Amino acid sequence: KPSIVWLRRDLRMADNPALYHAAKAGPVVAVYVLDDDCAKDHAYGGASRWWLHHSLDSLSRSFGTRNARIILRRGDAVQELRKLAEETGATVIRANRHYEPWWRKAQGELAKHVDLQLHDANYLLPPGAVTTGSGGPYKIYTPFSKATLEQFPPRDALPEPETLSSPDAWPASDALEDWNLLPRQPDWAGGLREFWSVGEAAAHERLEWWGDRVAEYGEARNLPSVDKTSQLSPHLHFGEISPVQIWYSLKERRSNGWKTYEKELIWRDYAANAICQFPRYGLESHRPEFARLKWRDPVSDAAAARDLEAWQQGRTGYPIVDAGMRQLWRTGWMHNRVRMIAASFLIKHLLIDWRHGERWFWDTLIDADYASNATNWQWVAGSGVDSNMFVRIMAPLTQSEKFDAGGYIREYVPQLAHLDEPFIHDPPGHLRGTYPDKIVGHREGRERALEAYKAAKT
Ligand code: FAD
Repeated sequence: KPSIVWLRRDLRMADNPALYHAAKAGPVVAVYVLDDDCAKDHAYGGASRWWLHHSLDSLSRSFGTRNARIILRRGDAVQELRKLAEETGATVIRANRHYEPWWRKAQGELAKHVDLQLHDANYLLPPGAVTTGSGGPYKIYTPFSKATLEQFPPRDALPEPETLSSPDAWPASDALEDWNLLPRQPDWAGGLREFWSVGEAAAHERLEWWGDRVAEYGEARNLPSVDKTSQLSPHLHFGEISPVQIWYSLKERRSNGWKTYEKELIWRDYAANAICQFPRYGLESHRPEFARLKWRDPVSDAAAARDLEAWQQGRTGYPIVDAGMRQLWRTGWMHNRVRMIAASFLIKHLLIDWRHGERWFWDTLIDADYASNATNWQWVAGSGVDSNMFVRIMAPLTQSEKFDAGGYIREYVPQLAHLDEPFIHDPPGHLRGTYPDKIVGHREGRERALEAYKAAKT
């Protein structure tokens, strides 16, 4: 009898524990179920759907070269998996553990009906495994990171399964094209096609490229004008590569750059731990004063709606913010330093609830990840469990100069390409017509934000 392997964000052949153990036991029916309803507001957005299409296409081809298939089904994941178990006579379903609240619910539901075997696959250490002296979860990143390092090394990375044997008959499958995951009209994905190669092989090529550069990561990772971060995030999100594979591949190069990089990978683990403790982290502020904060509401206030749109479209009049938002629109990715600046600008200068930003990122990022997106938005807002940053308001013009963002701005805001230092960071007023004026002054925005926060605290 075959076993079913339920694929989700683990679209890889190597170091895939569910697939590996199923293949050892006998024939394998791998399945991906597109279930748009279970995640509700967090069903995949446009950019993620684009990536998902190509990632499934790529992995299906790898299965094909081994005379195996990925079965595609659409609908309620638990129902579809139960149906597939009946159709194939499978008595075991194997899956790698996922921690998004909707996946935890589905895992719990499925386990009531079938023999569901769950494996640890997508984090350096299994979320929940790093605990404080009293056995509880860590809330703050720094002690979490320290305790994680003390528990290293992570589990060993597994090879690809040696053989993938087929069931007697293949169950029916949807055609990937029929899922319409790719944009049609307008086709906005040109930039994504230009910038990214999708799939497991591409992830490993990217890792190889990164291996030669990781030593410089410490100093250069904050500079958006240079390509000095790994850009592995979408591959990690979709599980085309595991953090454990990255860790073992780079650990020989224990440069200072690698030590910093390792800590960033631990941020990813930390975010997964955060949503285990606070499943609604992507839906509401953790700190109660944020529910009282008088945000400018784009739903009921036309000026706030205009500002939100200007932010989304990169027309705020702050070059560093606009370059970031245009990079996001064009490539589906944004440099981390600029994500922080752009997020801070929305929340503080525009006084718009971080959840509007989280939603936009969810739709436009190719690495959109419930845990990492929520954790970082709450971190910048200061509404989260681990920091109280609201009053630390980033000055976009100073940040732009400090992190030498001129080249980055010239690339993504070509209207400003002719400007030299220091005007590239803060263009002169006479550009009206080609580049917008600032939609809010720095001091004005800052003071409005601080007042609103003070009122909410008292
Ligand atoms: P590198 O600098 O090369 O880091 C290596 C890996 O570590 C990344 O691929 C990522 O998996 C992980 N990592 C690095 N920084 C963080 C971090 N702060 N939090 C969690 N994991 C991290 N990252 C996402 O993967 N998905 C998101 O939806 C997401 N939303 C964000 C929203 C905001 C407002 C901010 C400020 C940051 C967000 N990040 C998110 C974190 C970070 O910006 C990206 O992980 C990083 O820019 C990806 O580029 P990279 O692969 O080159 O990262």
